[in-house]
Order: sequence, then structure tokens, then C-alpha cells
Amino acid sequence: MLSIQNLNAWYGTSHVLQGIELEVKRGELVSLLGRNGAGKTTTIKSIMGLLPKAKGQITFNGTDLLSQPAHQRFHLGLAYVPEERRIVPGLTVLENIRLGIIASKRRNQERQVIEEIADTFPRLKERLNQSAVTMSGGEQQMLAIARAVACDPDMILLDEPSEGIMPVLVDEMFELFQKLKQSGKTILLVEQNVEAALRIADRAYIIDQGAVVHAASAASLLADPEIQERYCAV
Ligand code: ATP
Repeated sequence: MLSIQNLNAWYGTSHVLQGIELEVKRGELVSLLGRNGAGKTTTIKSIMGLLPKAKGQITFNGTDLLSQPAHQRFHLGLAYVPEERRIVPGLTVLENIRLGIIASKRRNQERQVIEEIADTFPRLKERLNQSAVTMSGGEQQMLAIARAVACDPDMILLDEPSEGIMPVLVDEMFELFQKLKQSGKTILLVEQNVEAALRIADRAYIIDQGAVVHAASAASLLADPEIQERYCAV
């Protein structure tokens, strides 16, 4: 579904990504791991078209992404939840979810999509009419993810969704990712919470200094604390 070959990216003259190779197949949950500054966010931003300079090859369902403007990548079926959750503060939870539905191919099935989202996100179901800004950070992050799901994308890219969130919600969030995978969603997950990310992923890539240093099944990386310590310790 997503295939990245020899991806290079720069911030000014700083050559940040140096030949990333990565693949995500339909229905997979793939984790992207590595220390702070390794290049995880830059990889996601390259996929979404949010970097001024990226070279190499990224194909998504057979389409060359690097030649497409960012808004077109959304229309091709990619949804992105950035680290800094971007809910619309003046709106309720339901209105935020509707923004996702309006932008999606299922805009004529609003009621059904809302029911599906409410089933998948029970914490939001209880709060549909609450002002989004009055929710906790973790709940707002759930809402940002729900809005991305409401867009009915082929693939969801999540950048450190558990960052700064209270532990009880983090567990709930990882359960949610499993649920989304079971419902057939394809997910690329950037995480600092390495163990939890490996537990739910099919495969994982470890990035260091802008290049992939390990690509393996999540189970084999989970069984290798030395690699986790060397490349993922914060
Ligand atoms: P983190 O978990 O800290 O976000 P990361 O693996 O996602 O880490 P990136 O954010 O992709 O890392 O950063 C990769 C490198 O690019 C780092 O050296 C970082 O300092 C640099 N960088 C990131 N954003 C910019 C920017 N806007 N301008 C210049 N350099 C940047």
C-alpha cells in the first residue's frame, strides 16, 4: 500500500533523512521507532507533503506521492494525526467529528459514521455535546484520532499519540489502535512508548540518524531489549 524508497529530506542545508526505506501493507499496523531527533516526524511529514524538500520515491496505492500537493495526498486516502493534536476548540466533540465526515467519501452517511465512531470511542460517546476544549489532553487526542477515522482513510499516520497523556488513557489508546487494526485499518504509528507499540504492531522500523537501522517483526524486536535500549532509549 505504502512504499518508500531512498527517501531523503532536508531542513535548509541540514540533510535529515538519508535514504529511508519503508513499506506498509494493507491491514498492517507498523510502528516507527527511534530516539528523539532520529527522523520519525520528518518521515511522516514527507509522506504527507509537509516538507519543503524531499527526494526519493514514495508510492501510495500505486500513485507517486512526491509529485502530489499535500491536499491531494489527503484525497488519496491518507489521514494524519500530528503530535500537537489539532482539535477545533470552539466546537463540540460531535462537531469536530463531523468535520472529518464532511471531508470524507461517506459524507452522505453521517448518522451511520457517527454511530460507528461512538462505538469505537466509548469515551467520546459520553461526551458528544461537550465543548472539545474542556476535555483532558488525552481525550482531545482521542478526538483528533476519531476525526481522522471519520475521514474514512485507507491509512492513518499517528505521530506520538500517547505523548503527555495519563497512563490509564494510554492503555485505552493502545487498545483502540488494536481495535482499529481489527476493523481493517492500516496504521503507521510513531511512538516513544516502545514496548507498548511493539506489542500491538505487526512489524516495526527503527530509525537512527535519518536511516532505517532495523526492520523486523514486532515480536522479534520485542524480544531484543538490547536493540530497544541502543536505539530507542529516550
Ligand atoms: P522527536 O521524537 O523528537 O520528534 P523525531 O525522530 O520525530 O524525534 P524529527 O522531528 O523528524 O525527529 O527530527 C529529525 C531532525 O531534524 C532533528 O535533528 C531535528 O532537530 C531536525 N528538525 C526537525 N524539525 C526541524 C525544523 N523545522 N527545522 C530544522 N531542523 C529540524
